[in-house]
Amino acid sequence: MKLLAGKVAIVTGASRGIGEGIALKFAEQGANIAFTYVSNSSAEKAKALEEKINALGTRCRSYQSNAADFSQCETLVNDVLKEFNAVDICVNNAGISKDNLLLRMSVEQWDEVMQVNLNSVFNMTKQVIRPMMKAKRGSIINMSSIIGLMGNAGQGSYAASKAGIIGFTKSVAKELGSRNIRCNAIAPGFIETDMTGYLKEGEQADKYRAGIPLGKFGTAEDVANVALFLASDMSSYVTGQVINADGGLYM
Ligand code: NAP
Repeated sequence: MKLLAGKVAIVTGASRGIGEGIALKFAEQGANIAFTYVSNSSAEKAKALEEKINALGTRCRSYQSNAADFSQCETLVNDVLKEFNAVDICVNNAGISKDNLLLRMSVEQWDEVMQVNLNSVFNMTKQVIRPMMKAKRGSIINMSSIIGLMGNAGQGSYAASKAGIIGFTKSVAKELGSRNIRCNAIAPGFIETDMTGYLKEGEQADKYRAGIPLGKFGTAEDVANVALFLASDMSSYVTGQVINADGGLYM
């Protein structure tokens, strides 16, 4: 029996990286997938993923939708409900980093990171809890980061946005637990995606790797496996938690 048979999952930011890994993993486990991307340049990649997932035998549709924009999230969730009739799982994965030392960080850089990383989680959660409350079940998974737990020089805005996600996650878990809606966060460490493209081989990569007990960077699939646990009934008594997927880097 597949772990997510017949469920409907929204995954934001799944044209590549961790989101793509989650969309694929969920589809392999029987979920129908609605996923988003934002850039015109990702449209072709999104279509290719849509076709790949449809070929697995579950339904998939991609949507170009800016998670930082409240009204676009409202339209997205209405469209998904029309197309799929339900939202059982929402993975708030879309995110960016605009790293800069505080002395050099502009207000615009700060605001952009907050809007894409933190406001997006509010925007989407606000929309999906209505159908979830009606269905009397739901799993919301928010993509935080170990940087939100430990901080990092040059990543003040990113760290603040990812720490904010954790406070929000725990509050939603408390607010909606009685409605059988669970809300958890994942805190990945160094995962090999476009976002960490600077971590190609070299001295800096070796230094980071040396600090990881498991001795390697993670993959999108490593994070997707944690998301699968949180999305499925395997975690039916788990809410308000932050699960690190970081090879032991932060403990
Ligand atoms: P990535 O490879 O850069 O992919 C980012 C994804 O988010 C893309 O699909 C992108 O769409 C989408 N996106 C960006 N802004 C968006 C917006 N405003 N609305 C909708 N979609 C948007 O990043 P990743 O490494 O997979 O990271 C995914 C999540 O994990 C992020 O929240 C990130 O902070 C978190 N994380 C990553 C790491 C890591 O080491 N990689 C570690 C900890 C946490 P387009 O293709 O259209 O741009």
